[in-house]
Amino acid sequence: MDPFVVVGGDAAGLSAASKCRRESDREVIVFEKGQWISYAHCGTPYFVEGSVDRLTDLLSLSPAEAEARGIDLRRGHEVVSVDAEDRTVTVRADGERFEQPYAELLVATGASAAAGPFDRSLDGVFSLHGLDDAAAIDAYLAAPDDYDPARLGDGPVDRDRVDHNAALEPPERAAIVGGGYVGVEMAEALSARGVDVHLYQRSAHLLTPFGAAVGERVESTLRDHGVTVHTDTEVDALVGDERVAALRIDGDERPVDVAILGVGIRPNTALLDGTGVDRGPSGAIKTDDYGRTSLPAVYAAGDVATARHAVTGAETWVPLGLTANRAGRAIGSTVAGDPTPVGDVAGTAVVKAFDLECGRVGLVDESAATDAGFDPVSETITAGSRSGYYPGNEETTVTLVADRTTGRVLGGSIVGRDRAAVRIDTLATAIEADLTVAELERLDLAYAPPFSPVWDPVLVAAKVVN
Ligand code: FAD
Repeated sequence: MDPFVVVGGDAAGLSAASKCRRESDREVIVFEKGQWISYAHCGTPYFVEGSVDRLTDLLSLSPAEAEARGIDLRRGHEVVSVDAEDRTVTVRADGERFEQPYAELLVATGASAAAGPFDRSLDGVFSLHGLDDAAAIDAYLAAPDDYDPARLGDGPVDRDRVDHNAALEPPERAAIVGGGYVGVEMAEALSARGVDVHLYQRSAHLLTPFGAAVGERVESTLRDHGVTVHTDTEVDALVGDERVAALRIDGDERPVDVAILGVGIRPNTALLDGTGVDRGPSGAIKTDDYGRTSLPAVYAAGDVATARHAVTGAETWVPLGLTANRAGRAIGSTVAGDPTPVGDVAGTAVVKAFDLECGRVGLVDESAATDAGFDPVSETITAGSRSGYYPGNEETTVTLVADRTTGRVLGGSIVGRDRAAVRIDTLATAIEADLTVAELERLDLAYAPPFSPVWDPVLVAAKVVN
């Protein structure tokens, strides 16, 4: 039997490969075009910030550990095309090409950072997508005399890029272009590195998918920490000769010596061009409940794939870490002979802005719910995070959205300073269980003064909406 071939050696790909090997004696080949495998994108802002000591702390499984699981791991191997009729992939490695037959194929190629209209070839212009980007930004931020290459650890880092950036004068003024979660995390990271940070967001609020109530508190927290936040502001271009010197807005040039682009990501689907595979939102590969694409024996998972929305039932694209790991693991089981659904996604997400914690799940405001065909009702409440008399009590703002007709919980957001983010998991669970607001209100949530008031902020919101 031909092997199970996996393209992509990170969250979705290695979860699938590991699970399949654990549950069967199938031959599993993983092609990874880069040198890093099993790394945490999510930790890269914290490496740049300095709160993660070494780049290699962000690795989970080493190549040797993957091979010890019986995975045939081929780094430096890029899959350039798929012949779904012949069930072969074409692989490029060391300047050569070869064909690899497969019995089943998993496309777990992730996404790439979009550059928008910006010139990423200028020194000082970066996206953050992967460990080499994190290493390059870290090197650029450091003064040549202060740069500590020991922070890189002993991984397969792109040393030429690091050395080039480490030799340049450190920046004083940063522009973060894009106010999504990567932009917000990098605003905090660059502030910690002593840079004067300006954050530019095209729309009215930061963290648009979290809703306005969260965005407003994030903006004021960033300002309190010295970040200059420019909302409703579109950056037109980054200009400079070799090194970025300014950004252009409405014909004005504002000086800047480092720019971080957080202007979105695009699914890496090029290897399926010409196959006629069905696409979904944002061009991601359309998948069914088992992660199958429209091509026979071809699965897709993670940032490259669509998923079904837990609230609307519609096809959606939510490129997040658990989605990738979970879908990969399920497909690994399916290929091993135990058909396992990949699960729906509710878009549950959390992010930190300095000491402020934000969470969101499902449909976070009435307009999103109306667009999805519901008749929504929503309330935003503010309640304490602990008993009022107990030290550390913090204002927690909860927005809860429900369907007026059925009472079903549709989504919401939470923002505050004292474990606000983890409270979103209560709402995520309510959505998964299809609870109504009345059922949510009756949940027996834990109470003791150091952890919660008698009525947890989520229960307060449910009482008000009900
Ligand atoms: P990836 O992790 O991108 O892996 C895809 C792999 O495929 C890559 O190694 C790539 O080199 C390889 N590849 C691509 N094309 C080919 C090819 N043709 N041939 C061979 N190999 C190929 N998510 C959260 O849930 N929480 C967070 O806090 C969070 N923070 C993040 C912070 C940052 C800065 C970034 C960039 C992402 C963050 N994410 C977060 C998102 C999360 O990291 C991704 O959803 C997750 O990594 C997706 O896993 P994946 O396996 O689909 O793709």
